[in-house]
Amino acid sequence: MDALYLVVPCYNEEAVLPETARVLKEKMRALMESGRISRKSRIVFVNDGSKDRTWELIVQLHRSDPLFQGIRLSRNKGHQNALLAGLMTVRESCDMAISLDADLQDDVDAIDEMVEKYREGCDIVYGVRSARQTDTAFKRKTAETFYKLLRFLGADIVYNHADYRLMSRRALDALEGFSEVNLFLRGLVPMLGYKTGTVYYARKERFAGESKYPLKKMISFALEGITSLSVKPLRMITSLGAMIFLVSILMLAYFLIRHFTGHTITGWTSTVVSIWAIGGLQLLSMGVIGEYIGKIYLETKHRPKFIIETYLEDEINPRPSSREMN
Ligand code: UDP
Ligand code: MG
Repeated sequence: MDALYLVVPCYNEEAVLPETARVLKEKMRALMESGRISRKSRIVFVNDGSKDRTWELIVQLHRSDPLFQGIRLSRNKGHQNALLAGLMTVRESCDMAISLDADLQDDVDAIDEMVEKYREGCDIVYGVRSARQTDTAFKRKTAETFYKLLRFLGADIVYNHADYRLMSRRALDALEGFSEVNLFLRGLVPMLGYKTGTVYYARKERFAGESKYPLKKMISFALEGITSLSVKPLRMITSLGAMIFLVSILMLAYFLIRHFTGHTITGWTSTVVSIWAIGGLQLLSMGVIGEYIGKIYLETKHRPKFIIETYLEDEINPRPSSREMN
């Protein structure tokens, strides 16, 4: 039977942790009793450099029940890094891992369905918010705009999916191959491929404590997402430069006609046209440089060029991958 690890990043979550632990434990026990996950399954809290009693609570939980495990980061490294730290730590022990927030905003009942999809053969199951009523209109709107913008810029992300997802062990192994420092997990996971599934859930209210994502963090998160997934903004400079240069040529033609029909003031034409022409050419050149910088940028990420799903090596007795033995 397969072991499920829940990975829960926690930053100053002392207000929610006891309740979260209780709810998750209940869920895990029910899954174990119905025989859908193994008794080796665990709940892993990742303390992301909290300044309150979060770590003490995690230690207590771990002492009270071996179901709970804790990972303590040396300092606050942000949600995405805490998540990756957790996933990469449990990778060797688990068959599947689900990441979810500590504040119970992600409906824990979706876990059953995720596990079900995993058993049907999905390597990645996305939790997608079917409704965002509990978020403020502002948060909803900004988030929607963000998803649309990212898609427009060519990033393959799942609409209304945050970081509530199940990943099989081999999907985690593949994720390990991405060595980038600027981490935007929900943009990377779709790059892995494999069979994926989707589970819909209604996002709940944070039941205690405050959001650890104020507007400032949200904006830097959005910029991180865009710049780590797409070099299209660089390409836009090129188009803009070309457009402005084109305008300068049109202006030149227009002013020449005006000049020969005797309607211009001396010096005006050459001044205006050269401003536009030089501006356009400069932008164009910057765009060309940007194109190379974009290439360098993508090179430095050392992303895996391919991920093998199955290798039927020996026709008589194919060696199944660990995922297919289940
Ligand atoms: N979190 C974290 N490190 C941070 C900020 C947040 O590990 O620097 C965790 C936090 O404890 C929670 C999750 O990330 O489990 C999502 O944060 P939050 O609920 O505050 O974000 P929101 O739901 O408001 O977007
Ligand atoms: Mg939250």
